[in-house]
Amino acid sequence: LALAVGATIDLLRDIVNTDSNTRDKEGVNAVVSRIQEFLNTSQVATHIAKNRQAGDHLHAGLCAEDVPIRPVLLLGHCDTVFPKGEAAMRPFRIEGGRAYGPGVADMKGGLVINAFVLAALRAHFPSGLPVQALFTSDEEIGSPVSAAAIERASRKAAVVFNAEPGRPSGAVTVARKGGVFMHLDVKGRAAHSGSHFTEGISAVRVLVIKIMELCALTDLDLGVTINVGIIRGGLTLNTVAPSAVAEFELRYVDRIHRDRSMRHIQEIVSKEHVAGSTADLTIIGEFLPLIQTDMAKAVYAAYDSSAAALGVHFGQEFSGGCSDAGIPSKFGVPTLCGVGPVGGGAHTTDEYIELDTLISRAQTLAVTILRLTEGHQQPHDARRTTRSPKLDVWSRRLVERIEPETFGL
Ligand SMILES: [Zn+2]
Repeated sequence: LALAVGATIDLLRDIVNTDSNTRDKEGVNAVVSRIQEFLNTSQVATHIAKNRQAGDHLHAGLCAEDVPIRPVLLLGHCDTVFPKGEAAMRPFRIEGGRAYGPGVADMKGGLVINAFVLAALRAHFPSGLPVQALFTSDEEIGSPVSAAAIERASRKAAVVFNAEPGRPSGAVTVARKGGVFMHLDVKGRAAHSGSHFTEGISAVRVLVIKIMELCALTDLDLGVTINVGIIRGGLTLNTVAPSAVAEFELRYVDRIHRDRSMRHIQEIVSKEHVAGSTADLTIIGEFLPLIQTDMAKAVYAAYDSSAAALGVHFGQEFSGGCSDAGIPSKFGVPTLCGVGPVGGGAHTTDEYIELDTLISRAQTLAVTILRLTEGHQQPHDARRTTRSPKLDVWSRRLVERIEPETFGL
């Protein structure tokens, strides 16, 4: 089994050193190709779904796509926030047990875990397991293209694991806020502010009033926040501003607060604060919340006990940050996020992962998958105890194969 850690680090180094900003279709495709090459070498079946407006998607699986069993789905995005040229400036490096480089945590380390887990499971279950994976291309801008593919794959899945980075504390992410990203465009009328002041309609003034009202929708007790991150407007100091724009976001925990807040936002936008002014609101991106259902709690429990069996503990956390994990969650599919390597500093030049967790997280994920797919590894027998001896042998073999030493760390 050619899963020496060397190979895993090689894969991580190669894809970190390949720039793949969301808008860089060629770069994203290059990351996809490298992962495909690794999977194909590991006898994992793959196929590419071409996209016109974003990088291509890579589907991989240990079973036929039309398998009658709901499979476990592994999710990950190949795009990063960093511009072309970033990797040449600060290439992949290892220092003091940590790996650094653009996208190493968010989420190329997680892609390596998914690829590695697929390869390890494939080697031990040549006849197949109900496990599929999807490598997507535009999460960092809200997955406008990937969302449909994630939705299709998720609706068929029994359980979804999203390999976003683990929290700096080591925890996996069991719940996340939803977010709506919006663009507000206000129009007024230009006028000389000295000689024709009363003929002007100040879009800047209107925008400021709207912003004050929008920000008042924040309710920290409910977990509802409004952040206006960008404002622009006006022409010159002595011109009544004819236009102004804001980009802002709503974040929320509970779905009912999304709809309620959006109604209030629409009211504020439509209100003619100054006669003759107009305002238009556009939703430019949206993430759904990850909700921890009872089934999702059971998946976390399986993950936690798998970690314990391996002698590690990660814990669970809620995060205000958004991810694609909200998509399967919308359909009630139990979803665990943040199962990638433990790391921090995402979207900054300090981004890192704890290299040893690349292995411990891969092991934990693989063992969890074995536990969850147990009923589908052999014919169902109601009299059988919950853990079959055969599975224990499989699990042990798998874990042996992915011991740290195998990786030379
Ligand atoms: Zn990410």
